[in-house]
Amino acid sequence: NQIIKIERLEKRYGHFTALNLINLTVRRGERIVICGPSGSGKSTLIRCINRIEEHDGGRIVVDGVELDGKLKNIDAIRREVGMVFQSFNLFPHLTILENCMLAPIQARGVAKYEARERAMHFLTKVRIPDQADKYPGQLSGGQQQRVAIARALCMQPKIMLFDEPTSALDPEMVNEVLDTMVELAGEGMTMLCVTHEMGFAKEVADRIVFMDKGEVIEESAPKEFFARP
Ligand code: ADP
Ligand code: ADP
Repeated sequence: NQIIKIERLEKRYGHFTALNLINLTVRRGERIVICGPSGSGKSTLIRCINRIEEHDGGRIVVDGVELDGKLKNIDAIRREVGMVFQSFNLFPHLTILENCMLAPIQARGVAKYEARERAMHFLTKVRIPDQADKYPGQLSGGQQQRVAIARALCMQPKIMLFDEPTSALDPEMVNEVLDTMVELAGEGMTMLCVTHEMGFAKEVADRIVFMDKGEVIEESAPKEFFARP
């Protein structure tokens, strides 16, 4: 029942080793929080899973598909794996609705009416259906990040990757994004979240993966993790 299997993963930038022999297995429906100091490789790990980066050694298998150097499986993987970044990365010249409709139509050939229905469904889910016709610049940071989550969900991914989704937000907007993530977790979505929000980790994570200097140095249940002196 593994959905992600990572074995002896290596990633280098020139002579610098960003990921050093990472092993990580994720079961279907599992919620993993990845934490660790800045520069420890958290973002690189997430980006390798989504094929934003290509790894140099080891294996990544996502839902039975081996991610290798062949570019042709990028599309297949991006269909399964949704990603939410620190910066919201919405298209500024498209409305919220259009932002959510774009990928399903262009990458998956979904009919326009169905893409619209899906978009409204997920915008309702993140509680901003009334913002559908606005442009990203007219929304708060927290609202934009919820749109980014809705947009990823419109591709009906099996896995959601989050890379510090609340780090760029004003403090008062952090919770509205975390609440959305908690809800998603409650529905059984497989989630890998890079975050410094330890409250979220404690409440939601099945496992906390602690990285340092490109290695996983600890993996534990939140109960053990937070019980340490
Ligand atoms: P984290 O997400 O834990 O802060 P990153 O995965 O972003 O860490 O980065 C890990 C290390 O790899 C850092 O030292 C960073 O400077 C380096 N790094 C990341 N991306 C690149 C890149 N494109 N080129 C060179 N070095 C990079
Ligand atoms: P984040 O904290 O969201 O991971 P970063 O500031 O670490 O963002 O990285 C932003 C971008 O810069 C990424 O594309 C990353 O690959 C790249 N990057 C990070 N560190 C380096 C580096 N030392 N040299 C070149 N590119 C880097």
